[in-house]
Amino acid sequence: MTLETSIRYCKLCTIPDTRPDTPFDAEGVCSGCNYYKYRKHIDWAKREDALIKLLKKYKNKNYYDCVVASSGGKDSTFQVLKMIEYGMKPLVVTVTTDMLTQLGRKNIENIKNFGVDYMEYTPNPIVRKKLNKICLNTVGDISWTEHMAVIASAIRTAIKMGIKLVCWGENPQNENGGPEDKSDVNDKMEPKRMDASWHHEFGSTLGLRASDLIGVDGITELDMMSYEYPTDEEVKKAGTMGMFLGYYIPWDGHQNATIASENGFTKYHKWVEGSIVDYEDLDNYQMRIHYYFKYLKYGFDRTSDWSSLAIRRGRMTREEGIKLTKEIGGKFPKEYLGMKLEDILKYIDMTIDEFNSTCDKFTNKNLFKTDSDGNLIRDADGDIIKINYDNV
Ligand SMILES: [Zn+2]
Repeated sequence: MTLETSIRYCKLCTIPDTRPDTPFDAEGVCSGCNYYKYRKHIDWAKREDALIKLLKKYKNKNYYDCVVASSGGKDSTFQVLKMIEYGMKPLVVTVTTDMLTQLGRKNIENIKNFGVDYMEYTPNPIVRKKLNKICLNTVGDISWTEHMAVIASAIRTAIKMGIKLVCWGENPQNENGGPEDKSDVNDKMEPKRMDASWHHEFGSTLGLRASDLIGVDGITELDMMSYEYPTDEEVKKAGTMGMFLGYYIPWDGHQNATIASENGFTKYHKWVEGSIVDYEDLDNYQMRIHYYFKYLKYGFDRTSDWSSLAIRRGRMTREEGIKLTKEIGGKFPKEYLGMKLEDILKYIDMTIDEFNSTCDKFTNKNLFKTDSDGNLIRDADGDIIKINYDNV
């Protein structure tokens, strides 16, 4: 990968080689595409049998059989429906998002009406706002709290309540491409589990540990507990296991959205701003900022992810995907889900000027056009311009 001179794109989809943890093979095909090809050889009936056997092992007579870690989104809706279908008695656990939207609230209430017990856990919002700003400024990710809190608090709840199984959706290392030893591309290997090592390597920690933030701006150890993944020892002692449902069922977010919609899930009224679907990331006003920083750091965003998923499943051609990533991807996040950037930033006590200088700080200037003084060149709309993007 020579960042200084070019960005290389997968021959089959729109993923660039600047995407972290996404190796390309000798033919220039990304690991996400190779994993998807491998899925055709998986004996899914056998995998479903294995799932049924596994669930049977965790069934209780008079108590919850599992925790379903739920954001309230389309995949969570699908997961809850699936667990009910398999005769499980789940406790659905939602960790409130950084900045919950009305649509997010509506979709959470929809799942409750499937007839399940539901727990909503809200880490201290005053501390969380502080953390949003600190993390945006230090690691360029406003959603660090979101990723940490969801994973850590779901398993913590399961352990505290003596529930032995936590049901997650797809292992993101499969769907988006990841190292072979962390994805399920080989039937000879055991299914990957959501555990401390997975979390530390792929849970978007960005090298920042919850404990690093104790003492910053008055933040205490107790404040950070919601973001701290339990130790292997704690998990082992509790006997709680985190499974990825996507190992057992051929995962398709698009199809999950259709099934969720048929069961009361509400989509956005158009494609979400900065994306090419109407059913993802509907529950947190800050999400577009998260994806914009991904673009500044690595030169890709959700338009690449979603077009690649659609291309692999034959719902879009690569040419159409490239066109969409160029037209919609990489734009300054002026608004999200109808809320103006100023108001989203006001929530974390940040001005547009502060935001702009944070953007500059995290922009990888090897990936964008600069003038002879090293300043970023902007197009007519004020957006920065990716290098060698005309000959993808
Ligand atoms: Zn690919």
